[in-house]
Amino acid sequence: MQRTLIIGGTFNPVHFGHLRLAEEVRKSLAFDQVQWIPCHVPRHKCPKGLLSFSLRLALLQAAVEGETGASVNDIEIRLPSPSSTYQTLQALTSIDPDTDRHFILGCDEFLRLHEWYRGRETISLANWVVAGRMGLDVDWFCKSVETAWPGCRPISPPKGSLAAYKFVSGRRAVLLQLPRLEVSSSLIRERWLSGRNLDELLPQTVLELLVAHRADADATWAKDRRVLPAGHVA
Ligand code: ATP
Repeated sequence: MQRTLIIGGTFNPVHFGHLRLAEEVRKSLAFDQVQWIPCHVPRHKCPKGLLSFSLRLALLQAAVEGETGASVNDIEIRLPSPSSTYQTLQALTSIDPDTDRHFILGCDEFLRLHEWYRGRETISLANWVVAGRMGLDVDWFCKSVETAWPGCRPISPPKGSLAAYKFVSGRRAVLLQLPRLEVSSSLIRERWLSGRNLDELLPQTVLELLVAHRADADATWAKDRRVLPAGHVA
């Protein structure tokens, strides 16, 4: 059975933090494929300042072009709005029930998964890779998982991971500790609008495509401009 790692997000735009995350997880847990799934209509994020789905998709395609085993999936455009991880995983499962899917989430996101739209059902639709920051308190993580998911039980973590759980549905979550690049899409949008250099934050092919769509990016991101706190490290 193919083991596929899924990374979902708004990717407004994709950056080196996303790419590094996917690569570190793929290597650590030996996945066959990485599938990138941009969110079509986010429930909570960036309602005004979101680049069009087709441009975010094209930027992702440019970012992973030539990478063996990587693909971009536009499934969410064909599903009802707003998008949800629940319906996306359900649709993927009905199209291809034989793939073993593992969805990456940051630690904070994973610990709130039970509060997401149909979160308690979502957890049974895939396995989960939880990306923890360096220095994460593993005991705190384990207590939080056990509180959020009654009936789950700790299992032996795969090599290179810090903890693992099996849920009542039989699905699993694995905690990895990963270095996190200090880059976010919000930081890129802010720097773009200030005319600052982005070379170290995203691949050149992505930057070239953004420049080719400068008018769209300027107009869209300016709608949602927010001021970063003083002292924010770029
Ligand atoms: P924004 O700044 O607009 O909130 P973002 O940079 O967090 O966006 P998303 O598209 O929301 O990007 O993130 C997709 C996934 O990538 C999420 O699981 C998020 O936790 C993870 N991620 C984002 N930035 C990084 C980073 N620098 N290092 C590791 N993971 C990241």
